[in-house]
Amino acid sequence: MAEPVLVAEGLVRRFGAIAAVDGVSLALATGEIHALIGPNGAGKTTLVNLLSGELAPQAGRILFLGRDITPLPVHARARLGLARSYQIASVVGGLTALENVALALQAHAGSSFRFFADCSGEAELEAGAKELLARVGLAARAEVPAGLLAHGEKRALELAMVLAGSPKVLLLDEPLAGAGTEESRRIVELVAGLREGRAILLIEHDMDAVFRLADRVTVLVYGRVIASGTPAEVRRDAGVRAAYLGEEAMA
Ligand code: ATP
Repeated sequence: MAEPVLVAEGLVRRFGAIAAVDGVSLALATGEIHALIGPNGAGKTTLVNLLSGELAPQAGRILFLGRDITPLPVHARARLGLARSYQIASVVGGLTALENVALALQAHAGSSFRFFADCSGEAELEAGAKELLARVGLAARAEVPAGLLAHGEKRALELAMVLAGSPKVLLLDEPLAGAGTEESRRIVELVAGLREGRAILLIEHDMDAVFRLADRVTVLVYGRVIASGTPAEVRRDAGVRAAYLGEEAMA
C-alpha cells in the first residue's frame, strides 16, 4: 500500500447506548479510492463526521500526513486539504456554473486572488474555473445558471468546486444519490479520474459503482470493521456475505 495520507486509529463515537463507531481503524492512501460500505445504520456517516471534524471521537485519533489532527475543527482540517464533498461546495443557483467555481477558487486561494477586481487576477480566476469545469465535463455549460443544471451536472459542479481547494483527501458521501442511470455512469467515470494525486473515501450504496471504482473496500457493521481489503478479497469474505451483501450482490 502507498504511504497513507489519512489514518484513523481506534475511533469510538457513542450516542447514548449505541456505539455508532466502535473502535474503527482505517488508512487512506494517495491515488486510491477506498470505499466504505455497510448496511443502514452501520456507522458510515458517523465515521465520516469524525474524519471531517464535525464530530469529536470519544476515543482514538486521526492522523493527517503523520500529524495528529484529532483536536482540529472542520475548517482547519479543510485548510490542510481534507475536503468533504457536500460541505465545502455550496452551489448558488442564481450564479452560472463558471461563477460558482470562480467563487470556490477565490475562497480557497484567499490572498493570492485578493486583487480580484484587477483584470489579470480576474482573467486568471476565470481560466482556472474553466479548467476545473472542463475537468468535470461541464465546459459547455459554463454560462448556465447553476439552478438550471440537471441533477448529475450539479453533482459534477459540486465536485469542481471541491477540487478548487486541491484537496489531498476527499470524503465523498453518496455521490450517486438521486442520479439516473446515465448520470451515474458519468459520475462514476468522473470520480474514477479524481483519484490521481489524492486519497478518496467513498460512501456509496450502489454496489456496482463501488466494485467498479474501489481499490480497497472496508465493510462496517454495527460500528465495527468486519472486513477490509481489495474488492476481490471483500467479495470472497464469508463474513461479509453473511452479514451484509448476500450472494447475489457479491456475484
Ligand atoms: P445510512 O447508510 O443509513 O446512512 P450509516 O451507516 O451512515 O447509515 P449512521 O448514520 O452513522 O449510519 O448511524 C449509526 C448509528 O448511530 C445508528 O444507529 C444511528 O441511529 C445512530 N446515530 C447516528 N447519529 C446519531 C445522533 N446524532 N444521535 C443519536 N444516534 C445517532
